[in-house]
Amino acid sequence: MRNAWSDHEVWIYECLRCGATWEEGFDVRHVDDGHGGEAVAYAHGGHPCTTPWTDHPCCECHSGNVKAFSAPWRKSGRVPEQRPDSGLETVIHLRRIHAW
Ligand SMILES: [Zn+2]
Repeated sequence: MRNAWSDHEVWIYECLRCGATWEEGFDVRHVDDGHGGEAVAYAHGGHPCTTPWTDHPCCECHSGNVKAFSAPWRKSGRVPEQRPDSGLETVIHLRRIHAW
């Protein structure tokens, strides 16, 4: 018998070329493969996609020199979703305190 469950992950991206930062949310589908392993599939906006840390060119300058890291304030993936913009606000705050 297979178990399957879903998480929501938010990833933060920072362009090392132009300094743009943005975030994207992913739905993560975990499936127990029945052999003690686990398969993970990512979806973005309801569409299957590659892993969040690959193939993410900058949304501003399209550089491939982009750093990706999972949002530390939503690490559990089980945060209630009534404030979907809170992560972005934090990024904007981070930009401010970095003296932009
Ligand atoms: Zn850029």
